[in-house]
Amino acid sequence: MGYSMSIKSKFCPECGKTVKNLYESNCIDCYAENSKVKIPNKKNVLFCVKCEQIFNKGFWTNGDSNKILLDRIKKSVILPEKEKLISVRFGEDESSIKIKSKLESELIVRDVKGKFEVKKYCCPACSREMGVDYLAKLQLRSKDPNFVENALNYIRSSKPKISKVEYVAAGADIYLVNQQIARQASRRIKKHFNCHIKASYKAYGWDKEKDRPKQRITILLKQKERN
Ligand SMILES: [Zn+2]
Ligand SMILES: [Zn+2]
Repeated sequence: MGYSMSIKSKFCPECGKTVKNLYESNCIDCYAENSKVKIPNKKNVLFCVKCEQIFNKGFWTNGDSNKILLDRIKKSVILPEKEKLISVRFGEDESSIKIKSKLESELIVRDVKGKFEVKKYCCPACSREMGVDYLAKLQLRSKDPNFVENALNYIRSSKPKISKVEYVAAGADIYLVNQQIARQASRRIKKHFNCHIKASYKAYGWDKEKDRPKQRITILLKQKERN
């Protein structure tokens, strides 16, 4: 009878579909569209192009870079209450991921946009092996875990020869071949990130042609703490 029908089936006010179950007063499709999945919009994994090792938990180790990246994204996904995470996969490209979840017996698939990438690097061991020398060292220090990556973008924008990137507890040491580029980059970083800056020189040999010491520059960039 019509009467019992109206008890069993429900009406979604968003799309007008008649369905069996409503979730937060919507059909499952409208619910999935209107509810929010939280995810950091940026995550990356460092990958050494020489030895194919990955920088993970403070060490360069063997592993599958895509898997580690997905695991990291997976750990940071926050689903709406009552939903259970099924899987996290890459979408068509690095700028989207597919998140599968379950709400009661319904399967939900969402495409979430972000910047997820496997960054190509040369690990410290491989840099040393290649014997690349450096003339400038930038010491990036901050309490903000994103500072190093953000500062590296400013360094990379002048396409320098980076001989190595060494991560330390409070930041990273960037070894560059060109001193002028190192100085330029550090000025740019100081301007954009509110840093203390301190440069020091150290002789490492004698330049016979110019009859003066050969010097390496070390530039410390320490981000000021926000109060
Ligand atoms: Zn609907
Ligand atoms: Zn390597």
